[in-house]
Amino acid sequence: MIGAGHAGLAVSRVLTERSIDHLVIERGEVANSWRRERWDSLRLLTPNWASRLPGYPYTGADPDGFMSMPEVIGHIASFAAAASAPVRTHTNVTSVRRVDHGYQVGTERGEIRCRCVVLASGAANIARVPQLRRAVPEQIDCLTAFDYHNPARLPPGGVLIVGASATGVQLADEIQRSGRRVTLAVGEHVRLPRSYRGRDVLWWMEHSGVWGQRYDEIDDLERARRLPSPQLVGTPEHSTLDLNVLQAAGVEIVGRLAAIRDGRALFSGGLRNQFALADLKMHRLLETFDGWARQRALDVDVAAPERFEPTRAPAAARLSLDLRSGEIRSIVWATGFHPDYRWLEVPVLDRKGELRHDGGVVVDSPGMYVIGLPVLRRRKSTFILGAEDDARDLVGHLAGYLARGEPSA
Ligand SMILES: Cc1cc2nc3c(=O)[nH]c(=O)nc-3n(C[C@H](O)[C@H](O)[C@H](O)COP(=O)(O)OP(=O)(O)OC[C@H]3O[C@@H](n4cnc5c(N)ncnc54)[C@H](O)[C@@H]3O)c2cc1C
Repeated sequence: MIGAGHAGLAVSRVLTERSIDHLVIERGEVANSWRRERWDSLRLLTPNWASRLPGYPYTGADPDGFMSMPEVIGHIASFAAAASAPVRTHTNVTSVRRVDHGYQVGTERGEIRCRCVVLASGAANIARVPQLRRAVPEQIDCLTAFDYHNPARLPPGGVLIVGASATGVQLADEIQRSGRRVTLAVGEHVRLPRSYRGRDVLWWMEHSGVWGQRYDEIDDLERARRLPSPQLVGTPEHSTLDLNVLQAAGVEIVGRLAAIRDGRALFSGGLRNQFALADLKMHRLLETFDGWARQRALDVDVAAPERFEPTRAPAAARLSLDLRSGEIRSIVWATGFHPDYRWLEVPVLDRKGELRHDGGVVVDSPGMYVIGLPVLRRRKSTFILGAEDDARDLVGHLAGYLARGEPSA
């Protein structure tokens, strides 16, 4: 197993249940991504009840609250200890090669031979930054979510945030509150209210079965895997954080960053369409929840259906911004993440560098598995809550493979 995040540890726990001998190799410490790669104020956007791991439910006093980073680290580290996970920390994997009857895993502390490899090294190792970054004038500081810690560490002056998914809206809110001017460039996004009919929106996702929808039941799987993360934040107030809230707080909304020419950022003019689409999709999802509640005769337990006001389009959104004028001093690229497989010396990546897998079973490389990627086997796969079902399915497949004693290549 490569990686001791929650996903790798979930697989480890299920392997232990089935008495399958294994080792978890981790370049840092358990929950390394949460220790090293997140900003200071981040809280999970999933409620505490959704931090359930195999055999390890959340048992604290606040199931509807949202964990801070120290709490997430504590939760995952306690799970590792409770599961007696055999983790070898501070061991970076530098290569994985196919050899007779299995794989050879190269690490900075020696080679390991194994029949099977599970890649649990994370979906968000590298920040995805568009090529147009190269055209940003020198006087502007560029950061990704990995470089950002808190507003005080930004250079003084205005901030352009590119991307309005979970990371972008959360950083826009925090930086605007710190007293800086924030401009937010908005492309395709997923709008969600924090609460719906008196329950957390993720309660609806889980109980209505939407989160559990399997990858082989989804019409456009490729698209589902590319969907941006929802505009949600976990706060003690359980507040919604959408573009209306941000505009009311003073954040300037502009269209998708389409180009940078001669020091000018050029924004797309399609904001109204983006808003209409996100509003439509949100309301369709809420209708799905309503249909499910009606079917289950749950209407007595939850509040009446709600509909939310459309996203307000700014009267005249700017179409360009002079990055040399001094108005903007830093750009935060909140444009997503991707995994890092540079150490994988097995031909399992497609032309785009993405791992070819069928629900986590790596294609054309028997005995190789992956976990923790978006919509790997279910819509909830990338969330902590999604790890258990995926881990059980994959370990079931892996146990069958070992039992058959098939050669690996
Ligand atoms: C900003 C952000 C916020 C998120 N918020 C939530 C949330 O609120 N709720 C939720 O459920 N999910 C959330 N997620 C999604 C998800 O939980 C994370 O992506 C999660 O970290 C994925 O778990 P994982 O175990 O697959 O990967 P990771 O936690 O990234 O673990 C992978 C591990 O592999 C190790 N590793 C990587 N490469 C190597 C190597 N070559 N050799 C050895 N070790 C290696 C890493 O050090 C790391 O410890 C968030 C993700 C991000 C990026």
